[in-house]
Amino acid sequence: MALYEYRCKECDHVTTFLEKSGTRKPHPCEKCGSAETEKLLSAFAVHGGEASSSGGASCPTGTCPLG
Ligand SMILES: [Zn+2]
Repeated sequence: MALYEYRCKECDHVTTFLEKSGTRKPHPCEKCGSAETEKLLSAFAVHGGEASSSGGASCPTGTCPLG
């Protein structure tokens, strides 16, 4: 499991959620209840023993020129 931060697009409130890897569930803002949130990179990712080999859209090396 890992911690993910979601920033509300309405009020800029950041909420941290604990998610199982692979779960893609929208989280409403805990402050204003808006569903318009965007996922941020968390500084506190917790590795649960499995290698993260999801191979998603993110850059594998972390050195992509475009952010
Ligand atoms: Zn909000």
